Amino acid sequence: MSAPIRPQPGILDIALYQGGQSALEGVAHPLKLSSNENPFGPSPAALEAMARALPDSHRYPSTDHASLRAAIAEVEGLDEGRIVCGVGSDEIIHFLCQAYAGPGTEVLHTAHGFAMYRISALAAGATPVEVPERDRVVDVDAILNRVGPDTRLVFIANPANPTGTFLPMEEITRLADGLPETCLLVLDGAYAEFAEGYDGGAALVDQRETVVMTRTFSKAYGLGGLRVGYGYAPRDIVDVLNRIRGPFNLSGVALAGAEAAIRDRAWVAECIRVNAAERARLTGGLRQLGIGCDDSAANFVLARFADPAEALAVDTHLKSRGIIVRHPKSYGFPEALRITVGRPEDTARVLDALASFR
Ligand code: PMP
Repeated sequence: MSAPIRPQPGILDIALYQGGQSALEGVAHPLKLSSNENPFGPSPAALEAMARALPDSHRYPSTDHASLRAAIAEVEGLDEGRIVCGVGSDEIIHFLCQAYAGPGTEVLHTAHGFAMYRISALAAGATPVEVPERDRVVDVDAILNRVGPDTRLVFIANPANPTGTFLPMEEITRLADGLPETCLLVLDGAYAEFAEGYDGGAALVDQRETVVMTRTFSKAYGLGGLRVGYGYAPRDIVDVLNRIRGPFNLSGVALAGAEAAIRDRAWVAECIRVNAAERARLTGGLRQLGIGCDDSAANFVLARFADPAEALAVDTHLKSRGIIVRHPKSYGFPEALRITVGRPEDTARVLDALASFR
């Protein structure tokens, strides 16, 4: 017998998250290239800062994240009063939906967009709406044509996940300028560090009242397990998000680790440099094997196969060699595999395994 109490409409439309670490079980010498993690791990400075913060774990952490916000502001050239930190950028996405969407409103995202947009929209009681891409690139015109009076949020990941494609700043600006004032444009910059010369849209946030940027420590900074992200937004929006944010949402260890990580410029620069080199090698190697693959501006590539059956067979083959990649069926790409860019030896291992398929 089920309980007489029911969740809000929309909640049971959210599929339980499948995946995570279980794919690694029983695999000898596994190479995990499925979650776009930094293959070099966190910066040593971040590890030291976390160890130093650990003994204070009986104390509640900072509620205003002032020290981390100051570090982010200094490094990124942002206004620290317009930064709000969250448990991963996931939490910022969640806050935005809680605060600005709701029953009777729509939340737009691209057809193959990051799963959290839909989850957070449904959790807020709003209707998530998928807008198709064009050739796996965010289609600004399709979004502008679909936006209506009930649209409150438009989420764009740039670089996009799982495609790795990049939307130039002119197109993002055109999108921002074409949206009604009643709609926020959220630029999800989870992979922004890997796109050379891209500021994640920060300058546009400074110039507009309805543009928000989200960023994370999970990718370039190698701290996916620590769960730290942030939003950069107009002051009134930051004020709203801070009202619904739990006062102690980030642990002291997480705050210390993220601050040390963003201050260690040499470490992240080296990770980004290696990523660009290995991304080029992986892309070139895939194409040489006749596997379709767009240029990626992120730390992963989307390898496209003949059909879903072939992608599945390649996935199984890679797994038999201990290589775990993402089969993004849930993103609507059953014919593709998303491969995180790894260390030089990882690129060699992946290309070697792919060459031996068939
Ligand atoms: N946005 C995109 C596009 C992502 O791929 C991810 C992580 N997979 C996130 C946001 C969330 O990252 P986190 O919560 O770790 O900051």
